[in-house]
Amino acid sequence: MKPTNPIYTGLPTTIFEVMSRMAKENGAINLGQGFPDVDGPEDIRRFAAEEIVNGRNQYPPMMGVPELRKAVAAANARFYDLEVDWESEVLVTSGATEAISDCLAALIEPGDEVVLIEPLYDCYLPLVRRAGATPRPVRVTPPDWRLDPEALAAAFGPKTKAVLLNNPMNPAAKVFGLDELKLIADHVIANDAVAICDEVYEHIIFDGRKHHPLMSLPGMRERTVRIGSAGKTFSLTGWKVGYVTAAPALLDPITKAHQFTTFTTPPGLQKAVAYGLGKGDDYYAGLAGDLQAKRDRFANGLAAIGFSVVPCAGTYFITADMRSVGVEDDDVTACRRLTMEAGVTAVPVSAFYESEAPRGFVRFCFSKREAVLDGALERLARWVERKEAARA
Ligand code: PMP
Ligand code: GLN
Repeated sequence: MKPTNPIYTGLPTTIFEVMSRMAKENGAINLGQGFPDVDGPEDIRRFAAEEIVNGRNQYPPMMGVPELRKAVAAANARFYDLEVDWESEVLVTSGATEAISDCLAALIEPGDEVVLIEPLYDCYLPLVRRAGATPRPVRVTPPDWRLDPEALAAAFGPKTKAVLLNNPMNPAAKVFGLDELKLIADHVIANDAVAICDEVYEHIIFDGRKHHPLMSLPGMRERTVRIGSAGKTFSLTGWKVGYVTAAPALLDPITKAHQFTTFTTPPGLQKAVAYGLGKGDDYYAGLAGDLQAKRDRFANGLAAIGFSVVPCAGTYFITADMRSVGVEDDDVTACRRLTMEAGVTAVPVSAFYESEAPRGFVRFCFSKREAVLDGALERLARWVERKEAARA
């Protein structure tokens, strides 16, 4: 038999699945894979149930049900003052992952280069490569995750077709400042490229910060694709409902990639998400406020145990330096030890780097009930005490 595609052949299972499995096998508290342990609002779930029982369950329109496309357009106006035509500028996909895949398949040609900021969400590199492009990663590292303007400039060139940007950023919990966004926009415009913006954590942003879509910067409206996800905005990660906003010239080919990837997304879920997007400001403030309180609870707890914790401006992830509690192993080993010895599962940050990763950093997901976070902190505290006692 001739060989199967080398990009996927032999590729390991994603780190999120691997760590969830390891947590389960060891009875550990799973703060690895990113998902909330309480489902999103009951009224949204009831809305979906009602649609599934009494509504239509056949193929919806290929671009998404009008209710959701209108709701996405309205949300763009409401939150970012972006005027969006729901009919020609909004596409519904089966999750942000499908959206990213569609964008890369539709906008990239073999030989192109794609600029990305490393650490990278796991699907980015294989999808960029499968589209035939060469990735041009720019590294940022903890604790400050500073974007070096010179490194950024060096990654762009005449072959740059796109930048793929995740903001707020997983796992760094970094929210790009307007100055950084402006810099990125300048390079995109100067190189006549496009921006693919993974903004799934747009509403999970803390300390009074405001999310600025790259699309809203001068000159970027026509050359930016903005991606959101109901999984994050409504704590319904299993639903896999995503949405894409882009000018018609970009959205049209993306829609064609979508039509031959999934074609549609379950209509009842789409309608329920449309209902959800219309929720009042209190819902959105509650989502961020709740998670901010959990961030503080967990970050303070980690710090009290002795962990050095990297600041978290958005997303529901927090990164800690294992060396601060005397663990000098690489982060993969550290995560295995955390699971087996402490009974708490995290994700090694090196999984998000292709180039040499910063040593010893692990990512915890804090979108969990307070009792679960407290239980994890208690286990971690006991583990650190045991280690110290063994060393004394
Ligand atoms: N991008 C980032 C940065 C993510 O963290 C996630 C969530 N896991 C996704 C994309 C995927 O979103 P979805 O589940 O909607 O495909
Ligand atoms: N995005 C989630 C995370 O970062 C996981 C999604 C997945 O498992 N594919 O943990």
